[in-house]
Amino acid sequence: MRILLFGGTFDPPHLGHLSLLQNALRRVDPDLALVMPAGTPPHKQAYGTPGELRYQMCSAFLKIDPRVHRSRFELDQPGKSYTAHTVEYLRRRWPGCEIFLLVGGDMLLSFLSWYRGDWLAEQVTLVAQSRDEAETARLEPAVRALKERGGRVLFLDEPVVELSSTRVRELCATGGEIEDLVPAEALRVIRRHRLYLSGEGEVETKKEVSAEYCKKLAKRNLSGKRYRHTVNVAKLARKLAKRYGADEEKAEVAALLHDICKERPKSELLQMLRDNAIMTQNAAEKPQGVWHAAAGMVYAAQELGVEDQEILDAIRFHTSGRPGMTLLDKIIYMADMCSEDRSYSEVEELRKLLKKDLDKALIRALQYSLKWLREEHKPIDEDSREALRSLEEQYYHPQNA
Ligand code: FE
Ligand code: FE
Repeated sequence: MRILLFGGTFDPPHLGHLSLLQNALRRVDPDLALVMPAGTPPHKQAYGTPGELRYQMCSAFLKIDPRVHRSRFELDQPGKSYTAHTVEYLRRRWPGCEIFLLVGGDMLLSFLSWYRGDWLAEQVTLVAQSRDEAETARLEPAVRALKERGGRVLFLDEPVVELSSTRVRELCATGGEIEDLVPAEALRVIRRHRLYLSGEGEVETKKEVSAEYCKKLAKRNLSGKRYRHTVNVAKLARKLAKRYGADEEKAEVAALLHDICKERPKSELLQMLRDNAIMTQNAAEKPQGVWHAAAGMVYAAQELGVEDQEILDAIRFHTSGRPGMTLLDKIIYMADMCSEDRSYSEVEELRKLLKKDLDKALIRALQYSLKWLREEHKPIDEDSREALRSLEEQYYHPQNA
């Protein structure tokens, strides 16, 4: 049994990877080829794109040849992945198998310093591709050292496709075209999850997401009209934060993300809520306006790594409000109601109130929106009723609050 192992971060997989695997398949003619996205590779810093998405993108390799399969082995390991552990696993799973390890040319240089490198060199045949004769010459001492330890190295003769994941990410971040560089399967995941927009390849786990970044994201995700609304809400939210003593940057971030999922299909919104056990009992009966708000919170938390609960709550409750609204909740709710692009009949009155009394403005806004919903025979969220009730109680009878 000959197994060709192709590990990597695949963040994202690109046409260079596909061509490399194709060449190796021809040369090695294995019974099985395993594409294995790494967990946290020992030689790299933790990077942004979650393993699951990298795994999804690797479906691109499957169409190359029926012998190609993906493996979750390294993704499922806690902590860092080490090739030595993977090789042990393959030996257990397919006793007596012959293992060919497909690596980038440069990796030959450091191979012996990998975890249990000497042992690994005996266990596998390395399969590498070098760009040209100059590179082959540069690698020569490393190859000699490997052979001295009993290692075997196969060089692929085919020309190298000059491409790197870093290059793809950089292009993506600067709005460049990547359609011709990555396979369609990966492109779909990149687009769908808006990967690599920040340029650092760590979009998804960034702890603090900047307003500037969120603006870019909004522009990319939303139609022109919705984007303009979003920018208006952000402008007003910032102003209100300043006026009422909230964190301006947080207000702007929450505002820029508040409608980020608004244009996704309903089925997708409901699926996001189901996947995250939000409103599991009654999501479908809730007013549709609250779906995109809750989905926006899920998106901010999971895909952008926003951890600030105030921001997450402000996004989640921007359409319904809720009892015990925080200052940021109130600001986002009102900024959404009174942004420049709004033109309903009561908006001027609300804008005026908003200049001097946030709570009073909010009470009026909730009264208007509940009245409107009743008149239009639209469902009313219990959170909105409770929000109004608790605000009126605090405002008019503070002694009871
Ligand atoms: Fe909204
Ligand atoms: Fe909105």
